Amino acid sequence: MNTTGTLFIVATPIGNLKDITYRAVEVLSDVDIIACEDTRHTKILLEHYQIKKPLISYYEYNKIKRTDTIIAYLKDGKNIALVSDAGTPGISDPGAGLIKKVLEEDLKVEVIPGPTAFIPALVASGLPTHKFIFEGFLPAKSGARKKHLERLKEEKRTLIFYESPHRICRTLEDIKAVFGSRHIVIARELTKKFEEIIRAPADAVLEIFKNRKPKGEFIILV
Ligand code: SAM
Repeated sequence: MNTTGTLFIVATPIGNLKDITYRAVEVLSDVDIIACEDTRHTKILLEHYQIKKPLISYYEYNKIKRTDTIIAYLKDGKNIALVSDAGTPGISDPGAGLIKKVLEEDLKVEVIPGPTAFIPALVASGLPTHKFIFEGFLPAKSGARKKHLERLKEEKRTLIFYESPHRICRTLEDIKAVFGSRHIVIARELTKKFEEIIRAPADAVLEIFKNRKPKGEFIILV
């Protein structure tokens, strides 16, 4: 009888290529196929660790079609590693949908823990860590975003948001409108060359990005 394969959810670095576990390298070296978001991005990591494996892309716009392909491979006994462009697959990226479908098919899923961007941001922020809410990405449209923030206005726990460089200023404008002069923390480019942590009210942060175009990956903590 054909034994089915395992889907390994492998956390990879959020910037610094050395932030990977021994087990992650071992699993990536042992699986039959690696499913990743951007093959060019993942190739850099694999080349660093001298891992040569067939890659298939699994990203937002082909995830439905690729889910069936991956499930077929697993049923055929192939072991597959799922990685994302950064951190832990399934956290604010397309991985969550695949994991759900694979579990629905009664196939095996094993997680290899490692980096997730919001944990180092929370710890480095200096804000309370005993209770926090991870909100992921806010809605892209300002109306929906403001409404969402309004619902969090009375929240006492530390709030964590992911944001892209092209939307950060508009989101900060909305945070300023809803939360006023409250201090926020921006964690930018964690573990990378231009890592930066800014602790200031939203309007002071906006002032900084008026004079310097926001670049890189951002996490906002309130
Ligand atoms: N799966 C990832 C994780 O485990 O954190 C998150 C993927 S999500 C598509 C990408 C977002 O994570 C970015 O827009 C940014 O908000 C955050 N992020 C990823 N790497 C980061 C870094 N090095 N510094 C700051 N934020 C980062």
